[in-house]
Amino acid sequence: MPVKKDFETPNRPTWCPGCGNFGIWEATKRAYEELGLSHEELAMVWGIGCHGNGADFTRAQGLHALHGRALPTATGLALSNPELRVVVHMGDGDGYGIGLGHFAHSCRRNVAMTVIAHNNQIYGLTTGQASPTSEQGMRTGSTPNGVLEEPVNTVGLAVAEGATFVARGFAGDIPHLTGLIKQAMAHDGFALVDVFQPCVTFNKLNTFAWFRERVYKLEDAGWDPSDKVKAFELSLTTYHEMACTPDECKVPIGLLYREEGTPTYQAGLPQLDRPLWKRALEPRDIAAALKLVG
Ligand code: SF4
Repeated sequence: MPVKKDFETPNRPTWCPGCGNFGIWEATKRAYEELGLSHEELAMVWGIGCHGNGADFTRAQGLHALHGRALPTATGLALSNPELRVVVHMGDGDGYGIGLGHFAHSCRRNVAMTVIAHNNQIYGLTTGQASPTSEQGMRTGSTPNGVLEEPVNTVGLAVAEGATFVARGFAGDIPHLTGLIKQAMAHDGFALVDVFQPCVTFNKLNTFAWFRERVYKLEDAGWDPSDKVKAFELSLTTYHEMACTPDECKVPIGLLYREEGTPTYQAGLPQLDRPLWKRALEPRDIAAALKLVG
């Protein structure tokens, strides 16, 4: 079975030194090794953003999709070959901005795939504009007087729209994040791991130190991830408390919500019993259909 190093290409990462993307990259490779994944069964889809450069450093079959379109691309991949383990990496500007509609519909469809969101709360690749998850009041290159609106409640939206596995990780805690990715990949349904990923170059507010002072693990607090209403309530609390001091509030990481036994989108399509390429071509007579349109 491949080990961690086997999921790397000869290309070295081009991320800024200290970027949170390194932690997610490391946790992802560890999860693959610990799960005993083969290259044949793994397929990865990347969105556009700094995180997407990981497509150059990670050895895996898959696709580097258009901005905001990683999820529909991954859906097509998952439906065309049920033997694949599909893993999506998307960014916050990418997946929660232009791709937000795709995100909501992917959650409600419960397409079996694992989604790892690199949530750095800023547009890093384009040098520091406010993203859909930037904190209210945050001054950025595009919001010199501060962000006016509240950030997208990513995990709350996922819970509300029907995602059956919703977790939150922190790029500064690689062993914990590795465990979450492994749990997500073991889940039979749409699994989101939204990861706080500090952008050390452009986000001077949500730094590694900022998170280290605030994060706590839900499992240590005896959290019950089967309660959907409580999971949604917790997501609301988190976002309203993001601007507080470490003494005033904490930010939960871990498994917020998991729903077992809900049929996947794939399960509703019995013709997906094997990959497209393994299906015999069945010639059809389309003469009658042509007559109708003729
Ligand atoms: Fe990472 Fe930010 Fe640099 Fe992009 S700009 S590589 S997100 S530190």
